Amino acid sequence: MQNESQIKVLLNEQKFRLTNERHLLLKLFSESSRMLTPAQLHELALEHQVKIGLTTVYRLLEVLTKTELATPFLIEGVIYYTFCGCNHHHHLVCLSCHQVLETHQSCPTVEVPEDFRVEHHRLDLYGKCSACQHSIEGGESH
Ligand SMILES: [Zn+2]
Ligand SMILES: [Zn+2]
Ligand SMILES: [Zn+2]
Repeated sequence: MQNESQIKVLLNEQKFRLTNERHLLLKLFSESSRMLTPAQLHELALEHQVKIGLTTVYRLLEVLTKTELATPFLIEGVIYYTFCGCNHHHHLVCLSCHQVLETHQSCPTVEVPEDFRVEHHRLDLYGKCSACQHSIEGGESH
């Protein structure tokens, strides 16, 4: 995980105290290479004997999104989250296995009207990762 004490401070500012269980939850989330729905993250926590309620999972994801430590993706009406522990970057999202890769290439330039002041942007590219392109099942099994 990225600078843990820094994350702790950010979460404290949002009045989200990192108890032991919550810390384990955050660790599981940050170590997942795939984006997860709140229910999937909850399930993962239970699998790892992290006894935490679904409400807390929602609360953690909300707080992380607010502090830009997580990014939500809307795919076919379902919201998935991925942990984003570092500076500004863009995402490559595999629609088959839900793996999320970060790309740190320079930001694209987009023409906007002169009187529009841009404050931030996101760039997410959706497709199939190389493993999924090479598996016949479309990546369900890796
Ligand atoms: Zn990210
Ligand atoms: Zn994939
Ligand atoms: Zn950018």
